[in-house]
Amino acid sequence: MHSHELAALIRQVPDYPQPGVVFRDITPLLASPAGFASAVDALVELSPREVDVVVGIEARGFLFGAPVALALGAGFVPIRKPAKLPREVVSVTYELEYGTETLALHTDAFASGARVLIVDDVLATGGTVVAAAELVARLGGELVGVTLLSELAYLGGRGRLVDAGISPVTSLLTFD
Ligand code: IMP
Repeated sequence: MHSHELAALIRQVPDYPQPGVVFRDITPLLASPAGFASAVDALVELSPREVDVVVGIEARGFLFGAPVALALGAGFVPIRKPAKLPREVVSVTYELEYGTETLALHTDAFASGARVLIVDDVLATGGTVVAAAELVARLGGELVGVTLLSELAYLGGRGRLVDAGISPVTSLLTFD
């Protein structure tokens, strides 16, 4: 499926979850067998080969991170919202496009030195990926890349990742 067809499966929802925010709704893409399969295949192609663990960010990062992990022969590790992971965690609180968020990762989620790929659905301001990379670093993981379904270029997230020394960052779809 061509990228413009995939992009057409992501709906724009004005004023959600707050006035002035245009939310990108990926549920039509997930609901399309051809769209979902083609998006996952393309994300795998964009990703580095040598990956021990794919980290997916709750919740939509799970939907793409898990199939990408399977295709790469890597494990899958969730980064979750507070009070969801049952054992000892490292956590970080950061500013979102709308509000603040805390993310957590099990302290024993992967071994120090593991090659880690972060996968998420939407890069907006970049705060979420920067926070996830911080958690990966705290466990001694080697971040080998960030693979994103989409990037909202007008929010400048990519620049924020560059400033944080996070690379390579690849996104399948860019919305200008
Ligand atoms: P950021 O931290 O501002 O880059 O926001 C990215 C995070 O918020 C990702 O985990 C996304 O799932 C979520 N997010 C932000 N904006 C949107 C959107 O328009 N559609 C879907 N998810 C979004």
